[in-house]
Amino acid sequence: MTVKAGEQDVFQDALARLSQIANDAGIGSEVMGALAHPMETLTASLRVRMDDGSTQYFVGYRCRYNDALGPTKGGIRFHPGVTLEEVQALALWMTIKCAVVGIPYGGAKGGVTVDPKKLSRLELERLSRAYIRAMSEFIGPDVDIPAPDVYTNERIMGWMMDEYSSILKAKKPGVITGKPISLGGSLGRAEATGRGAFLCIEELATRKGLDRAKTSVAVQGFGNAGYFVAKFLEEQGYRIVALSDSNGGVYAEAGLDVESANTVKQESGCLEGAPPRAGAKGTVVRQISNEELLALDVDILIPAALEAVITAQNAGSIRARHIVEVANGPVTSSGDEVLNRRGIPVLPDVLCNAGGVTVSYFEWVQNLQGYSWTLDEVRARLKDKITAAFAEMWQLAQRERITLRAAAYRNGLRRIANAVEALGTRDYFLDGA
Ligand code: NAD
Repeated sequence: MTVKAGEQDVFQDALARLSQIANDAGIGSEVMGALAHPMETLTASLRVRMDDGSTQYFVGYRCRYNDALGPTKGGIRFHPGVTLEEVQALALWMTIKCAVVGIPYGGAKGGVTVDPKKLSRLELERLSRAYIRAMSEFIGPDVDIPAPDVYTNERIMGWMMDEYSSILKAKKPGVITGKPISLGGSLGRAEATGRGAFLCIEELATRKGLDRAKTSVAVQGFGNAGYFVAKFLEEQGYRIVALSDSNGGVYAEAGLDVESANTVKQESGCLEGAPPRAGAKGTVVRQISNEELLALDVDILIPAALEAVITAQNAGSIRARHIVEVANGPVTSSGDEVLNRRGIPVLPDVLCNAGGVTVSYFEWVQNLQGYSWTLDEVRARLKDKITAAFAEMWQLAQRERITLRAAAYRNGLRRIANAVEALGTRDYFLDGA
């Protein structure tokens, strides 16, 4: 994965976008100062015993970006492209995102530069436990609470919780979210990111009067988030015409069968051989590249893999009518400019993928209470949070004639600013002078 977002790295690009939106919104320098400087970042060498007896070292990061609104929160990514800049950008976006949906968290992120596909299951477990040993004084249920991200999953969260609990000699399920249900995970967490994105698309469809059966959708990145959003959309009658993963994608004009595509991917490791949806038998399913998928003529394009896939270089070739960011940071700021000029609306990541952290928050609340909620309860509370934040974003965008991203950021920044100001700012000291 590239960390370059046009001319600058992904963190500088995220900061540039933030300061542009904050300037336009008149956000004070006190708040911007806090948001331009990640609070603390830990880099560690993780020593792992490999199955052949040798020792290998991996670089692990954890960035606690800003905690004005509460303990920091953010996933852990295992990917060969992980860098310090990427982790910081992701931690900044987490800070904004938690504020956008109004949950009492600051932002954080972690990662390890590793290709997990090259590790055995035991090596992966040793790496996961080594990460927590290195970070154990940096994280905690009241301080910083990790979760899954790209190429980490609930099994890994379970190992990590176990390692932290054994270091503290006490069961600490609230230290990490996205755990297996049997270890204190929440019902509805696995599907939450996809469900949150689905709820946003439904809100969009209602406001724009989209006919669901005629609405075509392409999803780049058929992983946790991409699978669930495709599944929920298909269940509601949308036509999923393209899916992809890191090996490439499949396309069928009449629509694909999402559940069968998932089975094919689980069994073979790729999407080749995914069938068309029922009722569209005889339809040809052809293979496409990720670049082709991004340029498809569809109603809704969902990038759900990695950041910086739509840039100034390829934004001109986008033919989708709407872009829904399920990945973090898939559109760079220069890509945004081109899309804005071309009138293609972007539903921003800081709201569209916030379902994951929202149900992670619910999981943490349940862990602290020692009491679990039903799936219906989790889904209903998620719907309340996402639809309220969507309405708030939509109204502000309409009223101020700004992009949906700028509106969502402004709503989040306002909450962060209120907290920063309540903690005591320049005005307080001037009053007392
Ligand atoms: P995942 O590991 O479950 O899936 C990632 C998918 O992307 C895989 O199918 C992989 O094959 C595919 N992929 C990797 N590189 C690709 C490439 N170059 N082109 C196309 N596809 C590629 O990860 P996930 O948890 O679904 O995360 C996906 C995105 O959603 C990330 O940006 C992540 O930060 C974001 N996100 C995830 C969550 C969550 O709860 N899992 C929450 C918020 C945001």
